[in-house]
Amino acid sequence: MYDVKSMKAEEFINHDEIMESLRYADANKDNVELIDKIIEKAKLRKGLDHREASVLLACDIPEKISEIYNLAEQIKKDFYGNRIVMFAPLYLSNYCVNGCVYCPYHMKNKHIPRKKLTQEEVAKEVTALQDMGHKRLAIEAGEDPVNNPIEYILACIDTIYGIKHKNGAIRRVNVNIAATTVENYRKLKDAGIGTYILFQETYHKESYEKLHPTGPKHDYAYHTEAMDRAMEGGIDDVGLGVLFGLELYRYEYCALLMHAEHLEAVHGVGPHTISVPRIKKADDIDPSAFDNSISDEIFCKIAALIRVAVPYTGMIISTRETESVREEIIRLGVSQISGGSRTSVGGYTEEERPHDTEQFDVSDQRTLDEVVNWLMKSGYIPSFCTACYREGRTGDRFMSLCKSGQILNCCHPNALMTLKEYLMDYASQDTRAVGEKLIETELGKIPNEKVLSICRDNLKKIEEGSRDFRF
Ligand code: SAM
Repeated sequence: MYDVKSMKAEEFINHDEIMESLRYADANKDNVELIDKIIEKAKLRKGLDHREASVLLACDIPEKISEIYNLAEQIKKDFYGNRIVMFAPLYLSNYCVNGCVYCPYHMKNKHIPRKKLTQEEVAKEVTALQDMGHKRLAIEAGEDPVNNPIEYILACIDTIYGIKHKNGAIRRVNVNIAATTVENYRKLKDAGIGTYILFQETYHKESYEKLHPTGPKHDYAYHTEAMDRAMEGGIDDVGLGVLFGLELYRYEYCALLMHAEHLEAVHGVGPHTISVPRIKKADDIDPSAFDNSISDEIFCKIAALIRVAVPYTGMIISTRETESVREEIIRLGVSQISGGSRTSVGGYTEEERPHDTEQFDVSDQRTLDEVVNWLMKSGYIPSFCTACYREGRTGDRFMSLCKSGQILNCCHPNALMTLKEYLMDYASQDTRAVGEKLIETELGKIPNEKVLSICRDNLKKIEEGSRDFRF
């Protein structure tokens, strides 16, 4: 039976409730009166429930879709302005004991070299990432209790936070590792992680079990209940995600929203972020072997509808996507992107992009500087801000900042100051020139005179060599 507050996976992600919601959506996909009502509700910017949102996803009336897109764009502007937070993944180890059929790190794959970074190698990777200008990382590792135990992950986090190279620093480490115990989540929390990210891959239990035939990840309930354990362990920023292409997208979308509703109902705070990865080609993985792949058009519709259904949740897109898809989807609601990424273990210290231990092919192969330059020329502010997490504004405290409308007096100046650091320390000449102009224009958007004056002051101090200011 469906119960949003249940702690059992199959009750809060209830198959019958999803099927019933999809039937309801099918029955109402041309019901303009209802669709208009749902769109009106969405305009209040308080979100939609999984049934309402599923109706909009099923709807294919062009005028209604364009209304939804316009609304998504407007909500994105209201909550996130034109700031895009930048991050990079850091692959620590590709040792893995699972059998995920879509991932080249699966245990049976004998023709990729297995590699695990030593702490010296972690330091080198982090130095290289700092030299690119990154301040925020997402660490990634396969699941292997012998090779990558929690102690190894904790040691890596320690190393990462400890490297202060030139003006560089990694100020927020997000963690994308396999589902684990409350005790281990508590250790991650104590190590000072930002968001704990775990992709559900698919919410469809039967498919999930087939796609994860062996290894600890086979356990659907353990995986699906991981965010509850993470929150019990004290981590209040958690990141959800579906690997699109594995199952029918409408099923996944509905379940993803049910998961968000569950976290909100039980813990009082919804997911901090939602990621929308799509299956990519990789060593011994052919994406066409999965028949649920989605077109760019549907992908954008999903993104727009995530923006509309959960306005306060950040949305992440990686370099799995091409420049043109990223452009469209950023407009519709994405708030965080990776740039200059390498998805191989030890990839940042190699001159040429290595392919042998890559987790998947990277579509957007531009450097961070090129991505920053492109974003600014498209009217966005690349932000290297990590202030909320460092000021303890996580979980519901972050959500209240969003809801209080203080973003222009807080996130906006923070974005400009961190961009300024990037321009001073890492940008090419052209990027710097474009950035300086952008900062000058964007300062005009800060409503509070006092904040504006402090921000101008800090920008000057950054020019003189000081770093790390924040509101
Ligand atoms: N091993 C951990 C786990 O199981 O959650 C860490 C995650 S893994 C390093 C990061 C994510 O990459 C996976 O959750 C999966 O969604 C995604 N991934 C795996 N194979 C992929 C592929 N061929 N194309 C795109 N994304 C893929």
